[in-house]
Amino acid sequence: MTRQRQVILDEVRRSRSHPTADEVYDRVRAFVPKISLGTVYRNLDRLAEIGEIRRVDIAGGQRRYDGRVAEHGHVRCVVCGRVADVDDLELPELGDLCEVRGYEVTGYTLELLGYCPGCKRRKPAPLKRRREAK
Ligand SMILES: [Zn+2]
Ligand SMILES: [Zn+2]
Repeated sequence: MTRQRQVILDEVRRSRSHPTADEVYDRVRAFVPKISLGTVYRNLDRLAEIGEIRRVDIAGGQRRYDGRVAEHGHVRCVVCGRVADVDDLELPELGDLCEVRGYEVTGYTLELLGYCPGCKRRKPAPLKRRREAK
């Protein structure tokens, strides 16, 4: 592993924010000033291929990267795009999913949508609470 790749890997693993390639590039430049954005992209893809990190494909958004490779879900803010890990939900056991409509299932991605703590404060009261108020 090259030093550049190691720095990129360390940065993705340290981050809990599921950074985009642009964000990784901004942070890595502090340690490797001459690195190019293309190099960052190539190394991120290579690290994902060899299973050191995971790609997080977000509907309608820029691809993000995750230093946690164990199966887990994500919750994404529909306003600002912030992504957090979801570990404590009852996720289906893979054993229950082995065969679905003739497909042999090898894994899954879970993406919940909602408002992050920051955006929640700036939006109108949630529907549930409005119903309860009646
Ligand atoms: Zn938000
Ligand atoms: Zn994650």
